[in-house]
Amino acid sequence: MKETNAASHDILIFINTMLAEINLAPDWRRALDNWLSHIYRYLLFDHITIFSSPANGGDVLYARAVGRARSAEADVDWGVNVAQLVFEQGRVIRLNRDGGGNINRNEMPFFLGIPIRDGDQWLAALVLVRFGGPAFSETDQLIGQMLGNFLAIVMTRQKLRERVAELERLERQMLLQEDFVSTISHELRTPLGFIKGYTTSLLRPDTEWDRATQQEFLEIIDEETDRLAELIEKILESARLQSDTLPLNFQPVRLDVLLRDATVRAMTHDRKMKVTMDVPALPPVLGDSVRLAQVFENFFSNARKYAAGSEIEISARQENGWVVVSFRDYGPGIPPEHLPFIFERFYRIPGKDGIKGTGLGLYIAREIIDAHHGTIAVESEPGKGATFIVRLPVMEPERK
Ligand code: ADP
Repeated sequence: MKETNAASHDILIFINTMLAEINLAPDWRRALDNWLSHIYRYLLFDHITIFSSPANGGDVLYARAVGRARSAEADVDWGVNVAQLVFEQGRVIRLNRDGGGNINRNEMPFFLGIPIRDGDQWLAALVLVRFGGPAFSETDQLIGQMLGNFLAIVMTRQKLRERVAELERLERQMLLQEDFVSTISHELRTPLGFIKGYTTSLLRPDTEWDRATQQEFLEIIDEETDRLAELIEKILESARLQSDTLPLNFQPVRLDVLLRDATVRAMTHDRKMKVTMDVPALPPVLGDSVRLAQVFENFFSNARKYAAGSEIEISARQENGWVVVSFRDYGPGIPPEHLPFIFERFYRIPGKDGIKGTGLGLYIAREIIDAHHGTIAVESEPGKGATFIVRLPVMEPERK
């Protein structure tokens, strides 16, 4: 009686250890690795192999030699036939195999094949091989089936977990998409509303507008049309960047040259702008020069809009395999509570209603720099200006 108690206690510990693994192991292979040593105390075998169902390709999903050293390949070959029988007959297969004249009786393989399923769906087949007997017993079969059932649980759990993660990713994407659609429709409707409103006013048959008013209305319509065109252009561009369909033409790019060109272009837009440059000759980065120029053009255009009249300082250096460019203005800067968001799509700091923009410029800049495996950041102390810092990897082999 005492002995029976001790034995059942042992079995309980065994089952509990096996079950605990289900909750601990991140995936079924790891669970099985950990189970093997416990199982081995109750069921001896030399090889364990798991095959996926024929519908899933019949591949070897797992194979371990736990007993005497064997050629794993040959054993897998035999296991394939047993797995096939398991799938064909949908039941446990216990088999011994005559190795023919070449095989020593001590090496004759015995097989135990066990179906692993989730409800009426085949997941896999578990094949255990034991060389030179004894043949697998009823009890061995029971322990094998228990292992098969445990495996079915961990495999299904893992499948469900992966599916949930995928669904959560899709859900996040859908929310972003919804957010995008609602912001976009608002952004598009605002200029359209102005255009429609002022056009309708101008066309009213019962009202005579003087020349100055007509001019004023037409200027608003003109500006809002430009804004709408810019908005559509940027929205399309950001959508293409996000879906990776904006082709980037990667070539060696010298950022010192690119920065000088961008500065010259910016100064033709605003001849009063003061720019100081501290940009030495730099090693090339691998990039799309048009897109990279666009990033710096956006910095210039923002500086003109948000830091009007301020001096701009551009400096660049090479640092541990990176080219680091900083673009600084001495305008009003960006309040700290807005800093984490200004690279987000459509994000604009409230209270700057007079300044036209889409909130897409810095978002697009970040997407472009991301596509170059670089980083973009901003630092600012309110009242003291803003500094945008772009880091791009130096082209191999210079990169350390
Ligand atoms: P847009 O200029 O079209 O609004 P951006 O994405 O380029 O969009 O910029 C996002 C916001 O970041 C701007 O609306 C502005 O409030 C702020 N910002 C950008 N650059 C500067 C700057 N140099 N100084 C102060 N604020 C800036």
